[in-house]
Amino acid sequence: MARLFSPQLLRSLRNDIPIDRLITDVLSIPHKYSEGYFRFLCPLCSEFNSATNPNTNLARCFRCKKNFNTIDIVMVDSNSSFPDAVYLLKSVLPQYINST
Ligand SMILES: [Zn+2]
Repeated sequence: MARLFSPQLLRSLRNDIPIDRLITDVLSIPHKYSEGYFRFLCPLCSEFNSATNPNTNLARCFRCKKNFNTIDIVMVDSNSSFPDAVYLLKSVLPQYINST
């Protein structure tokens, strides 16, 4: 089966788009700050028992015990397929790469 997307692209999408910015700016998922953590409304359980880790660029829901990378959270939030999530992230990637 042919690869639709290069490993380099997928790595860039996972690492170069800050997950906090993806949640707030692109997906518009409800979020808040408490106890020094950025917390987002988990698209699976609809609770704020969550945090993001800037070092790994992962979002975690402590209730679901699940980590989301940028691609995962788009798929869950938008109920989209893997390729659709990649296309969406690919379309917003330039604004994050060029802004640094
Ligand atoms: Zn959850």
